[in-house]
Amino acid sequence: MPFQSVLGHDGALKQIKTALSSGRMPPGFLFYGPGGVGKLLAARETARALMCEDAAARGSGDSCGRCRNCIQIENRVHPDVTVVNFEFQENLLDKEMQEISIDSIREVLKAAQRTCALRGWKVIIADSADKLSDSAQNAVLKLLEEPPEGTLWILVTGAPSKLRPTILSRCRAVHFAPLPDEAVAEILVQRGMAFDEAQSLSAMSGGSLASAQFIKELAEKTSGFDPLDPLYAFRVAASLPKTAMEARPAAGAIIELLARSLSARWQAETRPRTRGEMKLVLEQLLVYRRYINLNVSPHTTLEAALLETGKFHLSVFPHSSRV
Ligand SMILES: [Zn+2]
Repeated sequence: MPFQSVLGHDGALKQIKTALSSGRMPPGFLFYGPGGVGKLLAARETARALMCEDAAARGSGDSCGRCRNCIQIENRVHPDVTVVNFEFQENLLDKEMQEISIDSIREVLKAAQRTCALRGWKVIIADSADKLSDSAQNAVLKLLEEPPEGTLWILVTGAPSKLRPTILSRCRAVHFAPLPDEAVAEILVQRGMAFDEAQSLSAMSGGSLASAQFIKELAEKTSGFDPLDPLYAFRVAASLPKTAMEARPAAGAIIELLARSLSARWQAETRPRTRGEMKLVLEQLLVYRRYINLNVSPHTTLEAALLETGKFHLSVFPHSSRV
């Protein structure tokens, strides 16, 4: 059954399927948890399980994956399932914005008022729901308070605290935890990656497919850089995404990798003086790791961490030949 495609979230899926099979849907779900673990996929599967034309599949809280509704949702062309996100907004308003505006929500509602297709449900998935502007949150709240018949909202977010408490209280919260490493590896293999490479990446991913993908890209980008190059720290930091928001988790992951790599060296080191030096640097890395989550530049913090570890000539990706 199609919910099976959502790996590593048995508890969350059980909660969703119970609501679906009971026939008593809340006006909204809140799918929250770290990025890149499958929340959006689960949201689409929830829409399928709600709108599937196969009554037996629906009764079990799942979908058949084969009927017209299931296929249209999978192909992202179903008229009654809309994903509101920055991509949707850019296509609609033809400009880049920092928030998801009230105009995008209005457009979705207009579409939702048009005649609906087969089973009468409309599902609106707000991806990155924490980016909804104040007025957009107001509009969503109103709809959750007086839900139009047959409309389900699914708010997907990595930062639920940025949503109003009144919105949160109207939604059924479903937590998506970081994926187990084996699930990340399994999904990477399903996507065509070699087993060894998937294993190695999943161990560095912190349970996020998005991180695994990012680490792979970064490893490829930095594979030509030499840790002995005096500009190594600056070159690696310059490969981070440009915005602080995107660069933050990436810089955190790299500092984590540096700490692991140095820790392995420290354990194997026998000279007391070098061991002492390594320990000091390791402690400093922990401080930088904490800085990353504060309001400091992730680029500068990563540079500092790489300069600090420079004397040990650590490569960011100790397994980069396998990655
Ligand atoms: Zn179906």
